[in-house]
Amino acid sequence: MENCPPVVCEASDLVLSFVNAESLDEWLPGAAPSDVAAATELRDSLVVLLREHSGCALDEGAVAAAEGHLRQVATRYPLVAVVGADACGLEPVHGGPFGTFARVLGAVTDLAYRGAWPRTKVCKNDTCHTGFFDKTRNTSGLYCSPACSSQASMRAYRNRRKAA
Ligand SMILES: [Zn+2]
Repeated sequence: MENCPPVVCEASDLVLSFVNAESLDEWLPGAAPSDVAAATELRDSLVVLLREHSGCALDEGAVAAAEGHLRQVATRYPLVAVVGADACGLEPVHGGPFGTFARVLGAVTDLAYRGAWPRTKVCKNDTCHTGFFDKTRNTSGLYCSPACSSQASMRAYRNRRKAA
């Protein structure tokens, strides 16, 4: 198996564009309010797992609840194997927003197959929380950018001084 290529790819682009969309209304053009509500729940659950990947503090049971939600909704957004001589892949069964949600779940699975799911994280900077793809060699990145990293270490420094 290919091992952890720390590169941004189509799958991580899709997952991160979903996680980082400012407005899910705009991200899902023409979606009904119930679809936007489903998208919000789906995203909230994924974000819990991305926070877990970057070692953020989470409420007890939050990861299990998110995993449970994702398992439950996955049956509503099924994928089917499309097998060709050259290319194979998983395609959504449904069109519309449900198909889009299925693509997101397929992209997550794709990342996981390639060992890159733990690299999909949420920035640990309290004022940021942007989803990002960790390209460090040892999957140790916690911040989306050097700016967030220095902001967070400045804050930690100030807090230490306050505490001292
Ligand atoms: Zn950040």
